Amino acid sequence: QALRACGATPVEVRLPKDLEGLDALILPGGESTTIGKLLLRYHLLQPIRSLGQSGLPIWGTCAGMILLAQEVVGGLPDQPVLGLMNLRVHRNAFGRQVDSFQAELSCPWLGEAPFPAVFIRAPVAESLGPPLEVLAQYQDKIVAARQGNLVATSFHPELSGDWRMHQWFLDHVVPIPAG
Ligand code: GLN
Repeated sequence: QALRACGATPVEVRLPKDLEGLDALILPGGESTTIGKLLLRYHLLQPIRSLGQSGLPIWGTCAGMILLAQEVVGGLPDQPVLGLMNLRVHRNAFGRQVDSFQAELSCPWLGEAPFPAVFIRAPVAESLGPPLEVLAQYQDKIVAARQGNLVATSFHPELSGDWRMHQWFLDHVVPIPAG
């Protein structure tokens, strides 16, 4: 709904063949250990890693941020991740499901009005250094970051009805030429 509202045509990716011809990929929220296992089982982990390395715009939200990170704290010892971004993530940093919340987040790159950020058993992150660019922090922890064609947010921008983050991704990250 968010992507359609911004003029894009979303398709679901379930099998490796679905990756053909995409302009960008969004890794949604969910449960990162389960998503990681399914990415392995359906032979998607390595193809997505290669696409990310060769410039496909990829945006991970919440569990998707965990999958993009190089280091995961609080994960399973062998939790499969893509490991594409210079991020160390801490899973479930704000507590359990009942501790989910919405915060007005300062996101100057989206405009003056704060962004209504929905955190659901969300991770926070630390930077492992450039070229990682910190986009937003909450309580001094990274909750949005960018590394070239890769974007990670620990909140769920699709749940607030405010599509500025999706529009920004489509306007400023997706047009980057791959290579
Ligand atoms: N807590 C989940 C995990 O660690 C992520 C939650 C979410 O995606 N909303 O995988």
